[in-house]
Amino acid sequence: MNSSIPFKAIVEEANDIVIITKADPLDAPGPEIVYVNKAFTRLTGYTPEEAIGKNPRMLQTQSTDQDTTADIRRALDKEESIRVSIQNKSKTGDEYWLDMCIRPLTDENGKVTHFVAIERDITEQKELEHKLEELSKKDPMTGLNNRRAFDISIAEEFQRFQRSQSIFSILMIDIDNFKQINDQYGHAAGDEALEKMSDIFDLLFRNYDRPARMGGDEFCIILPDTSLDNAILTAERLRQMVAVASFSVSNENIKATVSVGVTCVDLNDVDYDDVVKRADQALYTAKENGRNQVASKQA
Ligand code: GH3
Ligand code: MG
Repeated sequence: MNSSIPFKAIVEEANDIVIITKADPLDAPGPEIVYVNKAFTRLTGYTPEEAIGKNPRMLQTQSTDQDTTADIRRALDKEESIRVSIQNKSKTGDEYWLDMCIRPLTDENGKVTHFVAIERDITEQKELEHKLEELSKKDPMTGLNNRRAFDISIAEEFQRFQRSQSIFSILMIDIDNFKQINDQYGHAAGDEALEKMSDIFDLLFRNYDRPARMGGDEFCIILPDTSLDNAILTAERLRQMVAVASFSVSNENIKATVSVGVTCVDLNDVDYDDVVKRADQALYTAKENGRNQVASKQA
């Protein structure tokens, strides 16, 4: 290696964080920090004097994923390199995400004497990923869960039912003659009516009920820990609330009604699709029977 190149200064000034620890002890209190560069101080707020002699656990937080720290521990035990994303906290308690690469450093005999961690702050990227993940589950018009999020929710609820027999019911809701509302008042007014529908859901449902817009003028609500009888009562309350409400859109008072199909999960259901299909059939019955009504179907 060319000894005239100032490697120490390069590491000191690097944009990425560099932390060097001793190789042991890996058990508590953990390996001692022997070097940190300027980027470390910029992000964590700890000066070299405050960090050297301590161990990297000082940067861990309640949010630090225990599986990730276990993965790191396994790699260090085997004296292998590892790359992870991990959440840490600064001196003032601010949490941040790191893309962290840890490598063993050996002496001239090949013995591992130190570990070096090279880290990059990826908090903004993580926040963006989180936002995109949230957005991908939302219906942009109403802010309700979309069909994709509904599928995930009901799959979880169905697994919970299979594990512990905790029942759930669903309400399949479709606005009556919605095409006429669009035709009479315009598509924009129809959109506003769809948004107002989600306001009614906010008023009626508990915060652990999960309303979703399935598409068009169809909504589905998962009601955890709710029997068929109680779900029918809730559906009837919803039907009445919509029927008496007027949707004031674009200076017009629009009246709308809904039909609701109700069902409860059953031990004979093989998967959640069976529950959804039954609620669809009940909704079809409600429409067939003249709309503005609730119909239920038992397995
Ligand atoms: P039914 O009582 O049988 O439900 O009659 P309907 O007219 O409501 O018919 P259906 O539910 O089959 O059709 C829903 C209509 O909703 C079709 C489409 O014109 C309209 N629609 C679907 N998505 C949107 C949307 O995002 N905005 C608006 N304004 N209208 C929509
Ligand atoms: Mg409809």
